[in-house]
Amino acid sequence: MGEVNQVELVEIEKGVKMIPGANAFIMALDKLVNWGRAGSVWPATFGLACCAIEMMDAGASYHDLDRFGMIFRASPRQSDALVVAGTVSKKMAPVVRRVYDQMPEPRYVVAMGSCACSGGVFNSYAVVQGCDEFLPVDVYVPGCPPRPEALMEGLMRLQDKIMGEHWRWSRWR
Ligand code: SF4
Repeated sequence: MGEVNQVELVEIEKGVKMIPGANAFIMALDKLVNWGRAGSVWPATFGLACCAIEMMDAGASYHDLDRFGMIFRASPRQSDALVVAGTVSKKMAPVVRRVYDQMPEPRYVVAMGSCACSGGVFNSYAVVQGCDEFLPVDVYVPGCPPRPEALMEGLMRLQDKIMGEHWRWSRWR
């Protein structure tokens, strides 16, 4: 009988163990899938009002969302997240909803700014009082406008939320 080698697993982080010498890791599938999704959140290129300028700034070179794996996509069909950046008029709401409907699952919504969160200062007949009236919002980023750092913080909270999901039993299944 040959000798059975006892290999000591090395814990890299909670729930992730490495097999030394085998170039292999052991982890729950949930963690692996969520890690891939959280590290490649692609928001749709879509802005509605002044908040969209701050969103563009977050994606530009100084704040550089790319380093979190977040790259704006010009098509909702290739996007994971919809950042509702700006005032949503009642005329525009069906269009925003259509963009969301064209996105594949799993998909997420970030309400950016007071207008998207609650209508902001525009308590009028023409403005939707929060995009959660017609979209399932995952993260709210308050402010008028929120700075790019605030949007980044919101997107990192979205990553945390994704990391806590059970991929087989999530709401889209
Ligand atoms: S929250 Fe302020 S900055 Fe953002 S869209 Fe509304 S008015 Fe403009």
